[in-house]
Order: sequence, then C-alpha cells, then structure tokens
Amino acid sequence: MSRKKLILSTGNLNKVKEIKYILKDLPIDVLSKDDLGLKDLRIVENGKTLEENAIKKASILAERVESMVVMADDSGLFVDYLNGAPGIHSARYSGDNSNDRDNNLKLLKELKGVPIEKREAYFRTVIALVGTNGEITTLTGECKGAIGFEPRGDKGFGYDPLFIVEGYDKTFAELGEEVKNKISHRAKALEKLKNEISKILEDEDNENICSK
Ligand code: IMP
Repeated sequence: MSRKKLILSTGNLNKVKEIKYILKDLPIDVLSKDDLGLKDLRIVENGKTLEENAIKKASILAERVESMVVMADDSGLFVDYLNGAPGIHSARYSGDNSNDRDNNLKLLKELKGVPIEKREAYFRTVIALVGTNGEITTLTGECKGAIGFEPRGDKGFGYDPLFIVEGYDKTFAELGEEVKNKISHRAKALEKLKNEISKILEDEDNENICSK
C-alpha cells in the first residue's frame, strides 16, 4: 500500500525543513503546497490574531484541495516590553518589503537601553487543521526567552539570532536545528499535530493529507 501524504502549503523553505524534520517519524510523506501546483496561491494574512490567520490560510487552501486534510500555521514573536510587538506583524515588522536583518535591527532599536530583565519575550505558533469533514482544530505551542543585545549565531532564520532561549543562555541561531526542533514553539505545536495526524491515519483510509 502506498504511503499517505501530508501536503505543506507554506512557501517558506525553512519551515518546510523544520516541519519535515519534526514529523519524520510518522508513516507519511510530507510535501509542500508547491508540489501540488499551488505555488501561486497567496492568502492575505489580515487577521487580528495568529488563530484567525492560521484558520483563514487552512480554510482557503482546504477549498482548493477537496477531500484532503489541510494544515496551516502562523507564528509570531511577542516582546513583553513592547506590549506584544512585533506579534502578528513579525514577518513585516520593519515594513512591507522587510527582511530578517531589517526586522532584527528594528527590534534592537526598539529595545535600545532596555535592561536584560525587561527583555522577556516568547514565540507562539498556532496550527489550524481542517479535516475532510470541514472540522477545524487549532493547536498551539510557545517557547519563552529574552531578546539579546546583538545577533548571535548563524543557524535558523527570522529572529533566531536575537532570541535567547530560557534555560539555555544561547540563541536559537547558536543552538542549531537539532536542539531547536526539540524545544521550539513550532516543535511543541507540531508534537500535538503528530497526535492529531496519528488519529486521522488510524480513523481514515485517507490517501492525501494536506498541510500548511
Ligand atoms: P510565520 O507566520 O510562521 O511565517 O512567522 C512570521 C514571522 O515570525 C517570520 O517571518 C519570522 O520573522 C518570525 N518567526 C516565526 N517563527 C520563527 C522562528 O522559529 N524563529 C525565528 N523567527 C520566527
């Protein structure tokens, strides 16, 4: 019998890599939405919360891939001192065409002169799963830490070089993918997803499971 498929609709190759790594023990093939020929499907992330955005992304994709389970995830970095910014605006913190470097520079600027004890932050991921019957499940994961005073490390992506993980005294970019993928916000949400997918695999003789 052929293996089941989990389709990731995200275009972010770093995320695809992390998700594949974390789900590697499941008896499914993990593919990206690009592999489904849906590379050009763009969804405007205009929700007020990570939940709204994740559900929107999963639901719109679910309409395009009938009879498949769809997953979408949305993440953000929430800095206490900045009242939760950049939060849902993490990807475009320094403007519409921003990149990781600009976003990190803006964050350092906003926290200039703020002492370490006031630089607490957390990453949060929300995964929305839409079943073949249209039922929506959301799963969350969080990882606590603090924002450093300068970028450290060369692994990972996004705010990884600035995020000092609680209990480690190292940034995600210093810890590298093996450690990050055990303790990160996304890893925690994906662990919960693993259980959901295992249930689906048990319950359904479903050839295609599609995810973002
Ligand atoms: P997304 O919704 O998961 O694409 O995340 C939005 C933005 O949050 C990304 O563009 C990154 O800037 C940031 N982000 C999300 N997850 C991570 C992570 O694991 N490390 C560093 N930055 C992240």
